[in-house]
Amino acid sequence: MTMLMVSNCPKCGKVYQKNVRNMCQECIRSFDNELDQCLNYLRDHRKATTEELSEGTGVKVSQIVSFIKESRLLLMSYPNLTYPCNSCNSPIRQHNLCATCRIRIVSDVNEMKEKEAKAKERGIGFQIRDRFQR
Ligand SMILES: [Zn+2]
Ligand SMILES: [Zn+2]
Repeated sequence: MTMLMVSNCPKCGKVYQKNVRNMCQECIRSFDNELDQCLNYLRDHRKATTEELSEGTGVKVSQIVSFIKESRLLLMSYPNLTYPCNSCNSPIRQHNLCATCRIRIVSDVNEMKEKEAKAKERGIGFQIRDRFQR
């Protein structure tokens, strides 16, 4: 018995036969089409921003962002393409967070560590006092 591996296409919800691209044939076709459109546009407008590319091709910004994240559009080749920071949506070209958010998160983590360290000191203090009282 052969089991047909079917699933719902994550993009359009239609039932499709599973494949390496993880979407149905129709979505693969429109995906490839949109990528082609972007690449064609960028061939003439290497310095386009993500917004300009979206306007020029009609491809959604979110789709362009996933092209970038899947390395189908290489930021190295296009100096003005950006994708949004995971936290505040400002345009970035590396990491998942902009510099401001990275600094904020690092200082949040440091603050937490400091608090933890202080709590530990207090904890040890209590233990010592306990021992003295015994
Ligand atoms: Zn689909
Ligand atoms: Zn940010």
